[in-house]
Amino acid sequence: MRGTLVTFHAHPDDEAIATGGVMARASAAGHRVVLVLGTDGELGEVAPGVLGEGEALASRRAEEVARAAEILGVSRVAFLGYGDSGMAGEPTNTAPNAFAAAPVDQAAERLVAILQEEEAEVLTVYDENGGYGHPDHIQVHRVGIRAAALARTPRVYESTLNRDHVLELMRNRAAEMGEIPDAPDPDDFTMGSPASAITTTVDVGDFVGQKRAAMQAHASQIPEDSFFLQLPPDAFREAFGYEWFIRRGERPRTHETWLFDR
Ligand SMILES: [Zn+2]
Repeated sequence: MRGTLVTFHAHPDDEAIATGGVMARASAAGHRVVLVLGTDGELGEVAPGVLGEGEALASRRAEEVARAAEILGVSRVAFLGYGDSGMAGEPTNTAPNAFAAAPVDQAAERLVAILQEEEAEVLTVYDENGGYGHPDHIQVHRVGIRAAALARTPRVYESTLNRDHVLELMRNRAAEMGEIPDAPDPDDFTMGSPASAITTTVDVGDFVGQKRAAMQAHASQIPEDSFFLQLPPDAFREAFGYEWFIRRGERPRTHETWLFDR
C-alpha cells in the first residue's frame, strides 16, 4: 500500500492551481489522495450572471471542487466547516465562523482527525505568507503546521511559488503576456518564495492537461477569459508544469524532486 497524500487548501480552486499536478501524479502512482478545504469559498468574486436565482456561491463551488477532484484522482474531499474570511482587511475576517478567526488549536483538531484516520504520510500546507497574504491562506499554514505536529505526520511540505522562475517566465514572455488582461506586473510581484528557499521541485509536466481541466472545472472563479486559461499552451506548461515546496524540519541535503520517499 502506497502512502496517503493529504493536501490542505483554503478555498475550492486553490488545490487545482497550487498542487493539482502533485495530486494527479500521486494518484497515478497509486497513492491515495485526500483534499481538505478550510472554507467553502462563499466570499469569492463571481461575475454577474454566473449564479442562478438564489444560488449560493458555496454550493456552486462545492460542485466545482467535486468535479476538479474527480479529474485529479482525489479519493476524498473534506471540508473543515469554516466560512470564507474574505480578502485581508475586510470586516468578514472576524465574522463568527470565519476560518481566519478560528482558534488554531480548534481548527487543527478537525484536521488532526482526518490525518489520523487517513494515516497521512505527506501533508501539504502553504508557506507562511499563504502565497499571497489572504488571511485564509495564512491560516492554512498555521493550522496545518499545528495539526501535523499533533498527528505526527511524517512529511510536511509548504506549497509555494518559485518567485524567480515566475519572474523569468514573465520577462521571457512579456510581449505575449502584455496582451492578456489582468496579467501580473513583474515589478510588483511578491508572491511565493525565492528559489533559494525551495527544497523540492516536482515536475508535473505530464499532468498539466489534468491540472488545466481541474482549473476549468472551477468556472465560477477561473473563467475561460481569465489570465491562467488565456495563457498559450506552452506558456501554461512553463507556468504550471512544476510545483514547488519547502519541506518542514531539517532541510534535505540534496534538492528533492518528489514528496514521497521512492
Ligand atoms: Zn484561496
